[in-house]
Amino acid sequence: FMAFSGMNRQNTIQKLQNETYDVLVIGGGITGAGIALDASKRGMKVALVEMQDFAAGTSSRSTKLIHGGLRYLKQLQVGVVMHSGRERAVVYENGPHLTTPEWMLLPYYKKGTFGPLSTNLGLFTYDFLAKVNKHERRKILKPREAVQIEPLLNRKGLKGAGYYVEYKTDDARLTIEVIKKAVEIGARAINYAKVTAFHYNQAGKVIGVKVTDQITGDQLDLYGKKIINATGPWVDELREWDQSKEGKTLHLAKGVHLVFSHDLIPIKQAIYFDAPDGRMIFAIPRNGKTYVGTTDTNYSGDPTNPPVLVEDRDYLLKAIQYMFPSLTITKDDVESSWAGIRPLIAEKGKNPDQISRKDEIFISKSGLISIAGGKLTGYRQMAEKVVDLVVKQFKEEAGILYSGSETESIAISGGEVGGSEGFQDFKKNMLLKGTAFGLNRRIITKLAHRYGANLDTVFHLLAKRMVEARRENIDPLVFAELCYGMEFEMVYKPTDFFIRRTGALYFEIDWVKRHKKNIVRYLAKALHWSKEQMDLYMNAVAEAILNASLGRK
Ligand code: FAD
Repeated sequence: FMAFSGMNRQNTIQKLQNETYDVLVIGGGITGAGIALDASKRGMKVALVEMQDFAAGTSSRSTKLIHGGLRYLKQLQVGVVMHSGRERAVVYENGPHLTTPEWMLLPYYKKGTFGPLSTNLGLFTYDFLAKVNKHERRKILKPREAVQIEPLLNRKGLKGAGYYVEYKTDDARLTIEVIKKAVEIGARAINYAKVTAFHYNQAGKVIGVKVTDQITGDQLDLYGKKIINATGPWVDELREWDQSKEGKTLHLAKGVHLVFSHDLIPIKQAIYFDAPDGRMIFAIPRNGKTYVGTTDTNYSGDPTNPPVLVEDRDYLLKAIQYMFPSLTITKDDVESSWAGIRPLIAEKGKNPDQISRKDEIFISKSGLISIAGGKLTGYRQMAEKVVDLVVKQFKEEAGILYSGSETESIAISGGEVGGSEGFQDFKKNMLLKGTAFGLNRRIITKLAHRYGANLDTVFHLLAKRMVEARRENIDPLVFAELCYGMEFEMVYKPTDFFIRRTGALYFEIDWVKRHKKNIVRYLAKALHWSKEQMDLYMNAVAEAILNASLGRK
């Protein structure tokens, strides 16, 4: 029995019902994932339910940076910078496969957001507060040096540039690796299981939830001593059901990213620059692409599938034109895109981009614990805070004692390579193994970053299922990744694989087009789908491609 296999959904769901959990987490984004890991590591019985796929909410739609939040210095949120800066190193060491340091250029202009003084002071403070290690400390560049590093920069009014290190990540895989580790320790987690109502006892305390299996329509009831609402943009909806939406509320803000071929925006490193309206935007190279974002606009629609509107697209195209005047980028160059919803805590009279990214915990009269706000970067500390609260409650209410958080020093799944240093040796080792399969260096490196220590299992599947792959007419490596996703990462729908396990819809959309048919056919067979299911999921892939590519065929 494999605890986290998409092929055992029925079994996993059946088993879910047989327990009263210490902690029942609603929401399988990074926030819920972190809480599940922290609580199970402390010895609590934990269940996590997610109504879509894991990370299908905001946690697969971010800028994909683990950052110290330099821009918050501008708003003098020194505390935020200090904590997220230091935490960055922890996230890196616990999952070095998924987080990679990357130099970032911060050009400054006459009348820009940052000037030479504030950049220098800002970055100095940043290095200091965030305890940035020696090799990664900021440099301040003269205009001539900045242009040498990045010839594409707009030179008009260029006063110089800061040069500092940010960390890139894969948000969806970070989420799934945290959940996998939680499951390894003993948590139970299931996707496509939607909470539709709360159960209360006679005293009005919340004791469980009603869940609908989104695949079969089956209903089930789950019970927990502590119920945690970690539903990101949906937090207020669940607080409404609990009749506890009082005091502070969420402010939803949409952010859009566009993806281009790196040939068209051939930047040499990431750049953080002012848009014409003074907001700041990232352009980041990744695996042969350059992605640019983000926008920040108020949003009031359904958070499930926020659209990329023409005005979002044009805003970003304009910003690109402004910063890289020698390029001619048009709407037809957009290969892919995504939009995400920030669950911010409302602050009166402030625009979305001025609102603090602080997290906030709400405890309702019924005992429901809701957590919202925050960043990917701070997920572990946020989880620690929530679970500390739960520990305190267990002690006061029942005299039960639990230890403190241990997540600061445990590797997430795939991160068991001996920290960032060990990861370098691990990569060398994998290069040898992968070469024996006839894979090239670029692909092996990509796989090592995608799966970390679990790449061994993927290679094992590659060897074992080569013949079957040929029979299914699927590239053997693609097939091995698919099998790994199904057996170890709860892939059920093709979009789980194409969007969140591989990131391919955003960064390799042609790969998705090439493999979709045979993969869907294989999944249908392996997971015993009905004809209707197969059509439905096939259409969902086609629709995802159409949406991401903004209607480009
Ligand atoms: P979500 O990821 O949305 O998870 C909540 C989950 O709850 C969803 O998956 C949803 O399906 C599920 N759910 C909802 N209702 C129910 C129900 N009834 N039953 C079961 N499940 C339910 N942070 C950074 O650190 N770095 C960045 O570079 C960065 N860039 C960003 C860029 C953009 C455009 C945006 C929007 C955010 C960015 N962030 C960034 C912030 C970060 O992405 C979020 O703070 C984080 O992903 C929120 O995670 P979450 O788990 O709270 O919410």
